[in-house]
Amino acid sequence: MKLTADARFLGERARFSLRLHCEDCALFDVERATCAHGYPTAEHRQPTEPLEAAVVFCKDFEMA
Ligand code: SF4
Repeated sequence: MKLTADARFLGERARFSLRLHCEDCALFDVERATCAHGYPTAEHRQPTEPLEAAVVFCKDFEMA
C-alpha cells in the first residue's frame, strides 16, 4: 500500500513512533540486506533522505 507522506502522516509517524521499513522488520536479513521471504525490498527500505514523498507499506511486515 502506497501513501503520500503528507504533514499529517509525518506528524502521526513521529507521535506514535511508527515503524514500517525493512530495517524494523523481523524478516529482514541485515547481513545480506534481503528479505527472508524473498520479497523485493527496494520500496520498503529506510530512506536515506529525511523527507519522503511517499511511503510503501509491506503486507508481510513483522515488527522486530
Ligand atoms: S517482509 Fe516486507 S518489510 Fe519485511 S523484510 Fe521483507 S520486504 Fe521488508
